[in-house]
Amino acid sequence: MTAVRHRADDPPSLRPGGGTSPSTGDQLAFSRLPAEWRRALAESELDEDQARHVMLALADRFGIALVHWTRVDIQARLVTDPGGPERELTPREWERVTRTEAWGMLPVLAEDAVADSGQLLLAIRQAGLECYGCGRALPADRSLPLTWGLCDHCRAQTSVGEILRAGCVAQLDGDHERLGDHCRRCGVPMPANEKRAR
Ligand SMILES: [Zn+2]
Ligand SMILES: [Zn+2]
Repeated sequence: MTAVRHRADDPPSLRPGGGTSPSTGDQLAFSRLPAEWRRALAESELDEDQARHVMLALADRFGIALVHWTRVDIQARLVTDPGGPERELTPREWERVTRTEAWGMLPVLAEDAVADSGQLLLAIRQAGLECYGCGRALPADRSLPLTWGLCDHCRAQTSVGEILRAGCVAQLDGDHERLGDHCRRCGVPMPANEKRAR
């Protein structure tokens, strides 16, 4: 599977010139913002935690699957004296962390891990966007319980029993999961007596 890079779509760094992951993608995203937004962000008095919540709220609203790391992730791994106070990074120490090569690599490593996991393909299958038999686009207005994730041609060549026996194509462990009278992952009908048989 080819890893699809999407850095240009990343949320912009809220602290241009500082902040985390000063990658080309982040800088490009920041430059795409309207001038008044860039000004507002540059002059913003948000603290780091508030900025994090803004990003999470925006990600939630627009369906962006966001993962992030902060100074908390570093602090939690620092050795503290037994019985002593928790170690807190100074602003300068934190800045040194954010400028390391290791820290800058985090997004790329996460992208590679996800690209290799098959999780994005599962999302396509669970959303019923493409026929998993031949790759044809499925009609946008037909839900998964109607298509079973298959085009008319491929569906005519298989049966519910065969799909149930073969395992769920929309889950890594292959288990179908009943929702009402169908599998909520791949859409295949699951007759009521199937429940008792399991
Ligand atoms: Zn097909
Ligand atoms: Zn299924």
